[in-house]
Formats: sequence, C-alpha cells, structure tokens
Amino acid sequence: MKTIQLETPGTFREIDEPEPKRLSSEALVRVHRIGVCGTDIHAFHGRQPFFEYPRILGHELGVEILEVDQNEQNLQAGDRCSVEPYMNDVDSPASRSGKTNCCESLNVIGVHSDGGMRPLITVPVHKLHKSNSLSFEQLALIETICIGAHGIERSMLKEGENILIVGTGPIGLGAIQFAMSLGSRVIVADISEERLTFCRDVIKVKHTLKADDSEFENQLRSACGGNLPQVVLDATGNRFSMQRAFTLAAHGGRIVFVGLLMGDIAFDDPNFHKRELTLMASRNATPDTFKKVISAVESGAIDTEPWITHRLKLLEIPEKFEATIAESNLIKAIIDTD
Ligand SMILES: [Zn+2]
Repeated sequence: MKTIQLETPGTFREIDEPEPKRLSSEALVRVHRIGVCGTDIHAFHGRQPFFEYPRILGHELGVEILEVDQNEQNLQAGDRCSVEPYMNDVDSPASRSGKTNCCESLNVIGVHSDGGMRPLITVPVHKLHKSNSLSFEQLALIETICIGAHGIERSMLKEGENILIVGTGPIGLGAIQFAMSLGSRVIVADISEERLTFCRDVIKVKHTLKADDSEFENQLRSACGGNLPQVVLDATGNRFSMQRAFTLAAHGGRIVFVGLLMGDIAFDDPNFHKRELTLMASRNATPDTFKKVISAVESGAIDTEPWITHRLKLLEIPEKFEATIAESNLIKAIIDTD
C-alpha cells in the first residue's frame, strides 16, 4: 500500500508497505483524514527533540473500522472513530492512577512510532473513540481539541471564573472552544491581529487582547472586571509569554502550560509565593476527555469547520507539504487519503 514516510528532515517520500496484520486486541482501520499538527511541522523541519527518522507521521486520525473481534465497547466494522494515539503501559504507576496521558513509557503513534500517513493501520480497540454522526474530518480534529480541553480540565476552571488563554494556534483554539462550551468568561491574547479577528468574528470570543500591547495588563484587568484572571493557560511555547503568566494570574490563581518550550523557565519566587500560585503542566489527554470532546462536537457546542484552512491529498505530501505549512493563513491542514 502507498505510504508517505518522512525520510529525513525536509524530505517526504512515497514508499510501498505491506498491509498490517492485526492482533486480536486490535482493530484494522482505514485512515480517511489526517490532521497536520505542530509536531509534524517540527519533525519536518528537524526541530522535534528526540525524534527518529525515517518515520511515518500522522497522529490526528479520522478512521473507519474494517475488522475487529467482538469487544466490550461494541465496536463493529463500519464504525467511524477518532484515535487516541497515546500508547501507554497499563501497569505503570501513572496509568494505574488514571494518567494514561503521561506514563513513563508513553509512545505516541506518528511521533515515537509509525503513524497514520497510509491507508491502513491497526489500533488497540480501547484507543478508538466512536462517533457515527461525525465526519472523518471532524474525527481527525478531535485529538487536537482534546489537548486544549485537557488543559482546561487541568485548570479546574469553575463557573464564573475568568480565564486568560494565550496563543491561538489549534491547541489554544481547542482550549478556547472547550472553555466557552463550559460557559466560562474567556479572554484571549495573541500577537497576531489576524488571529484575534478570527477569534472575535468566527469563534465569537468577546474579549481579545493584543499580547504585545504596552497596556496589556490594564486591558486584561478591565476585561476581567477590574481583577486579574483566576486562570492563565499558555498555549504559545514562548518563553516570554510563559514567564509573564506568573504576573498575570490573580492571587490564589492557577497557571497551566499546554505549550512546550525547549529549555528552562524562570520565575520570581517572592511573586510566586505572595500569590500562592499553582503551576501545572498539561500533556496529551485522557480517554474521558475524548468522550467529552466528541459529545461537544456532536452537539455543535464546538464547531471545527472554521479551523480548516488547507486540504491536501496523501500522495501530494512530498510535493506540497512544505509550501502548505509555510502559508501565513494556515490554521489547520487536513490530509485526505481517499
Ligand atoms: Zn497533534
């Protein structure tokens, strides 16, 4: 079967692969749509740490079950599913405490092992999340939304609290839409005026702030009714932005880093202490988050349609990937394997 492999940084090639053989605990699935993620882009540019080449990318997957044994979830051939791509060791302490998203030997398909840029793959049955009412395109976006949604869950955001979400890439957008679907007051910051306009006009965010405005803190206070927000969620991966979060969260507040930075973060301890801040990392998502996000997309509380700015076919990747990811209006590219 025709498969697209990232051979070395900067070079995709088409290879011919045998069809996969499934174990009884796995389903054989057809990959219909694949979301292109920041991770894929970093891998292409050779900037993804601890990344091994060659690798078949693709971890945001909308799939159809072709073959599966009888199973507890009642999944059957023909079902449409989103894939939870985080393969965890079920016996690890983290997994046993429910944190299947961050176990010590976590293996993400399409990142640490080969993923879905090919027509057929096998997936452990319990890593499939079904929704026969969503399109394959919507199912391919579930994983990205889950990353943002998990950040919101980590933040323990309560009704009536204000949250500042910094960064409006796909992860930030997932966090924004999930927080809005919970009825929270969301303030969004970014340095891109174009992205902020998108958030106001399309996502219907009431409060958007230019992150590099010299009056930023005052504007933030006024958007929150005079005080700083209880929660700051950073989805930028930018050192300045992440360090500034310590000065933007209210006293007693929480900071969640969904974005990832290669290096150290420094903060002023007296400020951290004085505010009694809680700092949290947020990595991947849990099966429960997949279920919640699927329901929110099914009900229309989260609309993924406006995110998709680019579409390309699987076999066009070697030729078109680089130009596509370089486009300035890129939010989300979707690969069609049909
Ligand atoms: Zn991703």
